[in-house]
Amino acid sequence: MKRLLHKLIHLIIMPCDKATLIIEKQLCGKLTTTESLRLKAHLHWCKVCPDYYKKAKTIDVWLGKLSKRWDMQELIKEEELETFKKRIKKQVHTHS
Ligand SMILES: [Zn+2]
Repeated sequence: MKRLLHKLIHLIIMPCDKATLIIEKQLCGKLTTTESLRLKAHLHWCKVCPDYYKKAKTIDVWLGKLSKRWDMQELIKEEELETFKKRIKKQVHTHS
């Protein structure tokens, strides 16, 4: 009976493959109110998709951090270049 209810809910709310698509869509942009409500309902009832949702979100956050770190690397390189230049100038001054 529980299994039947589960199946019925999946059919009424949305099937898992649709849910995963909507999860990806949510990570890329915005969902319509209906989509986000259906996704919430699906995640509440489904045993598999919340796990997928967590993983997808983690990957998304991880990728976001990684791209930010890349920007940081650019900044660090510039800073390093400046201190390197200063160091050379200092060395030139002390030697002269
Ligand atoms: Zn599902």
